[in-house]
Amino acid sequence: MSFVIDDVLVRNDPANGSAMGTMGRRLPVLFDSPHSGRVYPADFQVICPHPLLRQAEDTHVEELFATAPDHGATLLCALFPRTCIDVNRAVDDIDPALLDGAWPTPLHPTARSMMGMGLIRSMLRPGVPLYDGKLPAAVVADRIDRYYRPYHAQMRATLDRLAERFGAVWHVNCHSMPSTLGPDGRDPLAADFVIGDRDGTTSEAGFVALVAETLRGFGHRVAINDPYKGVELLARYGDPARGRHSIQLEINRRLYMNEETLERHDGFARLKGEIDTLIRRIADHAERRVLRRAAE
Ligand SMILES: [Zn+2]
Repeated sequence: MSFVIDDVLVRNDPANGSAMGTMGRRLPVLFDSPHSGRVYPADFQVICPHPLLRQAEDTHVEELFATAPDHGATLLCALFPRTCIDVNRAVDDIDPALLDGAWPTPLHPTARSMMGMGLIRSMLRPGVPLYDGKLPAAVVADRIDRYYRPYHAQMRATLDRLAERFGAVWHVNCHSMPSTLGPDGRDPLAADFVIGDRDGTTSEAGFVALVAETLRGFGHRVAINDPYKGVELLARYGDPARGRHSIQLEINRRLYMNEETLERHDGFARLKGEIDTLIRRIADHAERRVLRRAAE
């Protein structure tokens, strides 16, 4: 069962107690895809060309994880684009120089904001601005109310419900990454996947090891916390001392799509099959842990 609430797609919501995966299981596992949205709001006006804008999306990530509900997991996907507002940033990570008008509360811009990649992105990438001037403060406040707060409210409610019912929850924050790095975007990224747990602080180590071993078993190169450790969604929700295990998973886009045209290539089907196996192993892991807790 799936529904859309406030521009967030929710599949297998634990608020619906009877919802179960097609395999007959309901498990404390959540996958979320915060950056794959491509419903561009009519009032989101930018100066950079639309095809360029779309290169900031984690295109097709929601489709790679689409079988998660079959395994008894919950899947949450943002429908709005990350260039409009980035739910993987702190709500006060705003460069004051971007704003036209006063902001009612203190701002704490990080280095990401100063590079134009904060809560409200001002640069698509270095040298490619999104706007030709400042943004009215009321526009930014409206995006926070329309998109940011509902996404986090749904995340919080889902994790709370699953943790209350099962005693623990396993969360994968799903992303894709460009195949190149560096200031000029020319350094190839060696890793096929990067798993982040903010240097061991947002999950039990066994969950990270399970995901890394599964992906390496398919022949992929897997890096841990380098160069991506996880940002706001992990910092906010990962709390292993309370049984809340959150990891970030970055998938190299060259594995499944043409990064210029955004079209899937021949690798997509194989990767989707591997991700389906990964989801099943994570579901099995959660089930074992829940059963063990119940037996103790
Ligand atoms: Zn992302």
